[in-house]
Amino acid sequence: MLAMSTEKQGGWSMYTALYRSFRPETFDGILGQEHIVKILKNQIKTETTVHAYLFCGTRGTGKTSTARILAKAMNCLAETGERPCGVCANCLSIKDGAFMDVIEIDAASNNGVDNIRELRESVKYPPAAGRCKVYIIDEVHMLSTGAFNALLKTLEEPPENVMFILATTEVQKLPATILSRCLRLDFKRVPERILKQGMRDICSQIEVRISDAALGLIASNADGSVRDALSLLDQCISTGDKTVARDDVIDILGTAGEEIFVEMTELVLERQIAEALLLLDRILQDGKDVRQFMKDWIAHFRSLLMTKFIKNPEEVLNMSSENVDRIRKQSEEIELGFINDSIVKLSQTLTDAKWSTQPRILLELCIVKLASDLGGAPAIPVVAAPAARRPASSTKNSTEQSNAGEMTADPQIKSKSAVKRSASISDIDCDRLWHAVFEDGEALKGSFNLLRVGTKLKEVCEDCFYVEASNEMMETYIKENSSDLEMLMEKHTGRKLRLECTRNIVSGRDESGKTAEDLADEIGNKFGIHIEIQ
Ligand SMILES: [Zn+2]
Repeated sequence: MLAMSTEKQGGWSMYTALYRSFRPETFDGILGQEHIVKILKNQIKTETTVHAYLFCGTRGTGKTSTARILAKAMNCLAETGERPCGVCANCLSIKDGAFMDVIEIDAASNNGVDNIRELRESVKYPPAAGRCKVYIIDEVHMLSTGAFNALLKTLEEPPENVMFILATTEVQKLPATILSRCLRLDFKRVPERILKQGMRDICSQIEVRISDAALGLIASNADGSVRDALSLLDQCISTGDKTVARDDVIDILGTAGEEIFVEMTELVLERQIAEALLLLDRILQDGKDVRQFMKDWIAHFRSLLMTKFIKNPEEVLNMSSENVDRIRKQSEEIELGFINDSIVKLSQTLTDAKWSTQPRILLELCIVKLASDLGGAPAIPVVAAPAARRPASSTKNSTEQSNAGEMTADPQIKSKSAVKRSASISDIDCDRLWHAVFEDGEALKGSFNLLRVGTKLKEVCEDCFYVEASNEMMETYIKENSSDLEMLMEKHTGRKLRLECTRNIVSGRDESGKTAEDLADEIGNKFGIHIEIQ
C-alpha cells in the first residue's frame, strides 16, 4: 500500500483513490482549464466574483475541484499572496469537508422541492465561520421542476455573502431562467499531453516508474477526463508494482477505447477477416458485451461520417482532440459508401440481435459481409483458425472431433445429384470447413451435432455447396436447416452460397463404418424417438 495515499481511519488503514488524494488544492493545480482559472483568479484579485456560477463539462474535468478551490478563495485567511493559500485554517478545514460555510449538495439524491426550501431557509443566516457561504450543487440538472423554481427565487434575490456554484454534465437540461442568472464556465476535456504530465508528476511523488507508452495509453483511454485517467492509473499500481509498462495497462484496459474500433474498421477495410474475427474474440473474452460492441462500433462509423462533412468535428464528436485526430485520419482513408454500408448493416444486425440468443454469430457474419462486399475477389475462407472461433464453453468430445476431421472421400460413393455443377473451388479443405461450420452451428442449435455423423461437405463451387447426406432422415434435416447452414457457410467463406443436398445411395454402411441401424439408433436417441429401418 502506498504511503502517500493511505489515511488512518479508526485504526484501519484505508486506501484513498489517487483522484481524491491528489485533488488540486489551489488554482495552479487544476489541469487543462487555464481559460477558467484565469477568469476566476482575476475575479478573486479584483473582488468581482458573482453570486452564481454554472460549471459545465464532461465528468472528471475538474468542476467540483474548482468549485472547492473557489470556495476556499472566498474564505481564505491569507493576508498576502494569491488566494487560496491552501494552508490556512479555513483552507484546511474546507479541504477536510469540515467548514460550516461550504455546503455541498448532490442534486442527484436531493432533487425535491423540500430540499431546496431547506436550502432557502439556511441561506438567510449569515456565514458562521468565514466571510462567504458557498453552496456547491453538483449534478444540478437532476433537480425537479419545482426545485428549479424554488432555486430560481433564491438566485434572483441572493443574500449578501452567499455564493452558488452549480455544476452539471448536461447543461442542455437546465431551464433558460437558471442559465440567465449564472456566470457560465465551460470545462474542456483535458488534452492528453497535460494528462500525461499530471500522471507523471503523481508517479514521481509516489515513486512509481511508468513508461511513456503506458502513460500515453492511459491518457488516450481517459478521453480527456482526469478522474478516468487517475482511476486507470490506480488500477495499474494496485498490484503493488513499482513499475508500470504498456502491457500492464493493456491487461487492465482489456481492449476498450476508440483505438479498438479504429483497428477493427481497418481490418475489415483490408479484408483481413480472420484477424478481425480473432480481434472480436479477444474483445468479447475481455468481457465486452456483444450488443454494446455493435452500438459502439456504429458510433465509431457515425464519427467517421461526421468527420467527412464537418471541418471542426471536435464539438459534435464529444471526445478528446487526439481521438478526433485518429478518427479524422481513418475517415480520410475510407469511402463514404463503405461508411454508409457499415452503418446500415451493423444497425440491421443490432436489431436482429435484440431477438437472438446468438448475437455473436450475427455480428461475426456481419463482419464477414462487410469485408466481402468491398468488391474485388471474394474473401478467402477463414477455416485456417477454427479453434479461435470455438465458444469458450465448448465441451466437445475430442475423439469425435478427430474422427470427423479424418473422414476422407470415398470414390465408390455415387451421388444422385442431377444439378449441373458450376466450377468447383479446388483449394478448399471441405472437411475442415464443414467441421468449422457445424461446430459453430452447435452453438446455434444443439441438434446440429447430428451433422457430425450423417453428412459430408462434398464440394464448394462459385455459387453453391454440395452436402451429402448418408440417409433420408439427414437429407430432410439438412433441407429443413438450409437457411442456417447457408448463413454459417457465408460466415466461414465470405460468399453467399446456395445449399445443394444430395443423398449417398450406397446402402449398408456409411463412411464412419456405422450401419443404418446404428445411425437410426443414434439419431433416435438424440431426438428421443424410435426409428424403424425398412
Ligand atoms: Zn488559505
